[in-house]
Amino acid sequence: MARRKCTRSSWERRGGAPNRMPKSYKTLLRKITYSLAHPELNRILLAATKRGRDAREAQLATLVDPEGFTQSIKKLKTDAISKLDYLVQEFKLNCERNGSTVFLARDGREAIDYIATLAERHGLKVIKKSKSLTTEEIELNPRLEERGLEVIETDLGERIIQLAGEKPYHIVFPAVHKSQTEVAKLFSEALHEEVKDDLQAIMDAQRHALRPIFLGPGMGVTGANVAVAETGSIIVETNEGNARLITSIPDVHVVVVGMEKIVEKWEDALRLMIAHPMSATGTRLTNYVSMMSQRLPLAGHPRRELHVVILDNGRSRMREDPSFKEALNCIRCGACMNICPTYGVTGGHIFGYIYPGPIGIPWTEEVHGLDHAAEFAHLCIACGLCREICPADIDIPMMIAKVKEKDVKRDGQPIANRVLIRYEELAKIASATAPVSNWLVQNGLSRLLMHRFLGIEKRRKLPLFVRNTFEKRFLEIKREIPN
Ligand code: SF4
Repeated sequence: MARRKCTRSSWERRGGAPNRMPKSYKTLLRKITYSLAHPELNRILLAATKRGRDAREAQLATLVDPEGFTQSIKKLKTDAISKLDYLVQEFKLNCERNGSTVFLARDGREAIDYIATLAERHGLKVIKKSKSLTTEEIELNPRLEERGLEVIETDLGERIIQLAGEKPYHIVFPAVHKSQTEVAKLFSEALHEEVKDDLQAIMDAQRHALRPIFLGPGMGVTGANVAVAETGSIIVETNEGNARLITSIPDVHVVVVGMEKIVEKWEDALRLMIAHPMSATGTRLTNYVSMMSQRLPLAGHPRRELHVVILDNGRSRMREDPSFKEALNCIRCGACMNICPTYGVTGGHIFGYIYPGPIGIPWTEEVHGLDHAAEFAHLCIACGLCREICPADIDIPMMIAKVKEKDVKRDGQPIANRVLIRYEELAKIASATAPVSNWLVQNGLSRLLMHRFLGIEKRRKLPLFVRNTFEKRFLEIKREIPN
């Protein structure tokens, strides 16, 4: 007789989960083990996230009504998302009136193809970019490189991770985990000259290397922090001024904007321009705020083009899903990363895929799939701090719980959880059989097995079981106390 395959439906019919550890847990364990072996990373990250929290708190203290400000951000984002179809059309119409070309990309593949084809049509080989998480989301750089284009990130943090071949560690500070020494080494290798292990020397090297890139031929690609429907305008905020050069010098500028960034009016945009730096860097205003509605002639070049790629990539689906719709309210400030206790000790390469941190869990699930989200969703300890700090009051913990639920429904609980969920029943048996149970649980071999299979650290002190449990004693005491 052929052996019956234990398919998912068969174990589901039996009401249980497969007796295995899901792949996501194994990956997680491997990454955490690596992180624990590199405590220096942890020190850098904890110091940086604390700086972020402190600076934000100091800025918030300058507001007359911080909670009122948060609620106004929540309201304007919720209103915008509720009429997003209309706003996309209004924004598109006004961009076209301004002379820009608008492309609605259903997914990353369409957006990438549009940008690559545009560069090819203009015979441009170099793509100069400013920091854009939306282009990270669709993995624009490697795809453009596959099409023979050279991509150069011009934001310092983005350039560092580009040279290191890594993904962002933090939404706002992508290279926060890199030490000055590591950065100097990366730049020395890339520039084929020695760059001193000194902050000023690194910045000078970056400036000198970028100047000819800014002035030379190539296409500028940026993201957008906000898009304003009523005038078809784009707002790009940077602290280094690189986006201003990229948006103004090249003859062809492409903006990739996630559709959730569109708001109706300038009043909404101005409010967001205050909310972004306040929660992201703890400043009142970003150093450079570039506002663009159309391209004007420059240096005798009358036909300069502005292309706006409006990216959907799962956002329309998110909007229809009551569990994940609120994630579209995210203003990408990174504050939830700065307060999350597990992100603070693991960092964005463990607690994240391309979108890191607490809000990275629902975003990853929606745009990159459950497999990637499940690799870090279970790191969330449901403390709720991310919601407390969020400037848009997003219920991030509830969305994370939904992602965990989806994962457990699909892959089942790992054996450790299935055993530990039944701790009350196990404790009753162990108490009834004490002190034998204590010997069994405390001996070296058991501790090793529990460490290996249940994830109970072998050095952790475990409580002793007693026959005369508190439950029994309580019932006796209750009998002795008159009503
Ligand atoms: S979820 Fe909230 S705190 Fe986190 S990045 Fe988005 S807006 Fe900021």
